[in-house]
Amino acid sequence: MNEGPQKTEAREHHAEVAIVGAGAIGLCCAVELVRAGRSVIVVDRGEAGRGASWGNAGWLTPSRAAPLAQPGHAKKGMKWMLDPESPFYIKPSLSPALALWLLRFVRAGSPKRYLRAMPPIVELCDWSTDAWERFPAEAPSDFGFERRGLLMLCESQHELDAGLRTAELTEPMGVPYERWNNDRVREAEPCVIGPTAGAIFFPKDAHCEPDLLMLALAEHARSLGVTILEQTEVTGARVEGNAVRALQTSRGEIGADNFVLAAGAWSGAVGKAFGLRIPMRGAKGYSLKFPRAEHHPTRSIYLSDRKVAINPHRETLRIAGTLELVGDDLSVNTRRVNAIVKGARAMLRFAEPQSPPEPWAGLRPCLPDGMPAIGRSPKLKNLWLAIGHQMTGVKSAPATGRLLADLMESRTPSFDPAPFDPEGRC
Ligand SMILES: Cc1cc2nc3c(=O)[nH]c(=O)nc-3n(C[C@H](O)[C@H](O)[C@H](O)COP(=O)(O)OP(=O)(O)OC[C@H]3O[C@@H](n4cnc5c(N)ncnc54)[C@H](O)[C@@H]3O)c2cc1C
Repeated sequence: MNEGPQKTEAREHHAEVAIVGAGAIGLCCAVELVRAGRSVIVVDRGEAGRGASWGNAGWLTPSRAAPLAQPGHAKKGMKWMLDPESPFYIKPSLSPALALWLLRFVRAGSPKRYLRAMPPIVELCDWSTDAWERFPAEAPSDFGFERRGLLMLCESQHELDAGLRTAELTEPMGVPYERWNNDRVREAEPCVIGPTAGAIFFPKDAHCEPDLLMLALAEHARSLGVTILEQTEVTGARVEGNAVRALQTSRGEIGADNFVLAAGAWSGAVGKAFGLRIPMRGAKGYSLKFPRAEHHPTRSIYLSDRKVAINPHRETLRIAGTLELVGDDLSVNTRRVNAIVKGARAMLRFAEPQSPPEPWAGLRPCLPDGMPAIGRSPKLKNLWLAIGHQMTGVKSAPATGRLLADLMESRTPSFDPAPFDPEGRC
């Protein structure tokens, strides 16, 4: 623990709300709470926004807003465990916690539960995409927001049929789609070289540059009066009865009336400080940025069979993929990273730099049922949770912040809180 002036400085901190985690979720909660007139401190053990929210694919796509637990995913995961280059991987372990997590994951992936879980997530993402579109008017700097749609390329008929079934489901939720043939794909995106069985275009989807978004969001939060304490690790909590009194951090105690846990994939570990047993697991993914090439895509592209995400930034091309259920291991598996690039090259023309780009790794925060938990902790009356946003944290962050602030301020909630209720889950 650090001694000296910094510790004294942190000891003096007290706010109405203290938030653990300055990712997309923690910062959006902070913005909504400060707008509601609360004094807010956000605590992060690193720099603001540098967790999973930093190098993700940057998609703001309600069309891809399903819970992680889906019919058939567990079976696919088992099959892909044997393939070192597969896009979905479960690190084998004898851990009883992992076995229990997988059991709950399999149960949550029933068609009935999946169909029930999808509309609330789509609603959060749809609302949030509009919020991100409005954000540049208030944000201090540009973050590359563009609403040019998402083009889902399907190499196999099976993938196209599955994609169309999902598109039919989400269309009544306000997510329109179009069916495109090969000619239309080539005409619109000359960078596409691989053959497809067909494509589905979602015109309302958007994308951004996630690292720039995090910088703009942190700056915006500060400009509204949010205090962000960086390099300050939460190591414990002072809990009395059913209330939290203070966070114990590497720079001293931080007192508050209410506390929010928004520590992404690390929320299970931090939750222990509050006496909670949160079944959180990190699902690792990678992204790489290539220089802009001659045939730069004009919109986001999803290589559906290969589970590879393409985001055309203004000066670079971001390629992201893989989902490895690993806990909190952030090491880079070169074989999997190479598989992402190889898969992308089979379908697209893009730059071949002399030295390969540095891969970024991040952990998607996953609860076994694949649904975010947003609301009051079942055990502690002044602890609130905003965790478990799996593959959808950036695209649903503004709505998450709004819903959490509604609940904390006892306002009529902007969204039905029931599907996200932590009760019985955390
Ligand atoms: C490869 C990849 C691609 C993705 N693509 C997309 C996409 O296109 N669109 C989308 O919406 N989502 C995407 N996601 C998911 C998205 O990145 C996450 O859902 C989202 O970033 C989660 O946000 P968060 O704020 O909960 O967590 P994080 O951004 O990880 O923030 C958690 C913060 O908590 C801090 N913290 C942890 N422990 C402590 C502690 N003890 N004390 C203090 N602070 C602590 C961390 O330092 C971190 O800053 C992708 C993820 C990956 C990995």
